Amino acid sequence: MKKLHTFTLADRAEAGLMKELLEREGVVCLIRNEQLFAALGEIPFLECSPELWVVDDEVWPRARQLLDQWLKSEEPTPSWTCPVCGEILEGQFGACWQCGKARDA
Ligand SMILES: [Zn+2]
Repeated sequence: MKKLHTFTLADRAEAGLMKELLEREGVVCLIRNEQLFAALGEIPFLECSPELWVVDDEVWPRARQLLDQWLKSEEPTPSWTCPVCGEILEGQFGACWQCGKARDA
């Protein structure tokens, strides 16, 4: 058994999705820590980032390749710079929190 990827807690849902996609490709895998989390209930969040493990080492390189493809296809929203005040804002913000200028307005 070999670890394929460690997801951040924010990506917990993604971990489940990737497992499902890999299994659809015939790669048997499991998520560790998330199960632990479910079993123990109250362990600190930082200690339970879900890890995706491939059960059969022989298919690991293929799983790696598939996962890389999928992760790459999900481009994060790029950050942007406010044209008015020059503040750098993360992609999810639709307006500048500094001066209130709307993005792409
Ligand atoms: Zn601004």
